[in-house]
Amino acid sequence: MSDESLMDIKANYRAVLNDISAAAAECGRDLSDITLIAVSKTKPAEYVLEVAEGGAVDFGENKPQELAYKFDEINTGKGLDLRWHQIGHLQRNKVRHIIGKTVLIHSLDSIALAQEIEKRAGNAGIVQDVLIQVNISGEESKFGIAPEELDGFLTELESLEHIRVKGLMTISVRGYSSEQNYELFKRLKELADDHSLKELSMGMTHDYREAVRAGATLIRVGTAIFGERNYGADGSGA
Ligand SMILES: *Cc1c(COP(=O)(O)O)cnc(C)c1O
Repeated sequence: MSDESLMDIKANYRAVLNDISAAAAECGRDLSDITLIAVSKTKPAEYVLEVAEGGAVDFGENKPQELAYKFDEINTGKGLDLRWHQIGHLQRNKVRHIIGKTVLIHSLDSIALAQEIEKRAGNAGIVQDVLIQVNISGEESKFGIAPEELDGFLTELESLEHIRVKGLMTISVRGYSSEQNYELFKRLKELADDHSLKELSMGMTHDYREAVRAGATLIRVGTAIFGERNYGADGSGA
């Protein structure tokens, strides 16, 4: 159980950034087109503050209540303008916790969820930016729409005035080789291009270099920055 010291995590963040920078240079991509999201789920607010001090602005959470809690503690409490991303599966009854606190929901995967976001964002008088989660491989992942459903899904979303679709998100398959990850990410990139969608959220600790090569604009890295996560007895938070 490696509990990283506060000093380590700031250095870790810089190292991941450098790595992304090198990967981007190798394939001729501009680093300014890529945002590193530090995934702070299960980690205390003081860890977030440490990485923020190292220059990080974008943070990811997968539990809505945890995102709301950290927003209240840090943005409201300390007056920092951190950008919070909802990266994990989102249940309809949890949407209310994060509207007004998240800059981007990465995991829109059903019309019912879209309708709830529409309602809550409308009440708050905002337009919520979202990504559509796509299950590219058709394997393993419980969440995300199938690639062939994207057309119809986008059409249905058109009538929702308080939702703005910025792009697509995917999670790769555990155990894939780096070449398989690259191929999978490439397919998400092609799907986004086909629909003129700009943002691509893909790549985690084990596959972010492949994601950079394939065109990711948002990269979600937790473990490589904050160290291993200790999950509670219920094993949730993954
Ligand atoms: C936890 C999580 C990450 C970060 O995973 P690491 O392997 O720790 O980098 C990225 N994306 C999603 C959706 C996650 O839930």
